[in-house]
Amino acid sequence: MLSKIFTFIAVIGLLFFFMFIGLTLTQTVCDNVLRYTIGNFDDRFEISKADFKATLLETERIWESAFAFNLFEYDSEAEFKINLVFDERQQFSLEEKIFRGKLESSETGRDSFTEEYKTLTEKYSSTAREYEIDFALYEKHLRQYNVTVSRWNERGGSPPQVYERLERDKSILEKEVGKLEQKRFNLNSLAEKINNVARENNRLIDAYNTDILTYNNKFGMQREFDQGDYRGNEINIYQFDTLNDLRLTIAHELGHALRLSHVDNSSSVMYYLMGEQNLLDLKLTEEDIEALTLECGL
Ligand SMILES: [Zn+2]
Repeated sequence: MLSKIFTFIAVIGLLFFFMFIGLTLTQTVCDNVLRYTIGNFDDRFEISKADFKATLLETERIWESAFAFNLFEYDSEAEFKINLVFDERQQFSLEEKIFRGKLESSETGRDSFTEEYKTLTEKYSSTAREYEIDFALYEKHLRQYNVTVSRWNERGGSPPQVYERLERDKSILEKEVGKLEQKRFNLNSLAEKINNVARENNRLIDAYNTDILTYNNKFGMQREFDQGDYRGNEINIYQFDTLNDLRLTIAHELGHALRLSHVDNSSSVMYYLMGEQNLLDLKLTEEDIEALTLECGL
């Protein structure tokens, strides 16, 4: 009995010994959970701490959902910090946001000018049509009047009754001329208004095109992953535009914290550029998964 117990203890001892050796030789990032917490937090990023934390937890799951084990754990006491570090990069991002807002509002402004231009030109066309009809009618009345007058003149003058009627016709014709003049004046004012709107619209389009050019020159390039970096016991986040953007940056830097290098697929979290990853539904690609599988020796 004694010898059996001894053997059992000896076997257990041996097992522990081998396990210890084994762990020392093959311990990987997948064997330890990386405990992290929020370090420096800068309000100028315009994100709440709660949203930042929620984004960190979501980003964890992007890595963990591809594997069946826990890789990261939020722990307020952790030594590993994820910091928001405000510098010219986020300043740049905020400027970009303001510039984009300006472009969007000038698009709205342009749309309302286009609408006003359309309404005015429609009004001009219908008023011009009315004017032509009225003018043709006036010319017809004038012709009739002149024919009648010259007919009576040929006869050496008109009787008083006819003369009175012709005088009335004449004053009606004069009133018609007055109305036509007023209509012509209104039409000219309308045309002037249309020209002003068109000029303003063109000015807006020119300004918009210049802004687009400036925007593309300043903000249009594909960005390298310098919005964040991994520094051994911390990750610094320097820049993001939206939460989707932030998620990708954190996911990328967490990848580096898992000791992963860059991979070749441009849609991968671990690609060295950001731009072609699916920000709306960020997932690891085969290359990302393969990199961690290799790192973990799975
Ligand atoms: Zn990187």
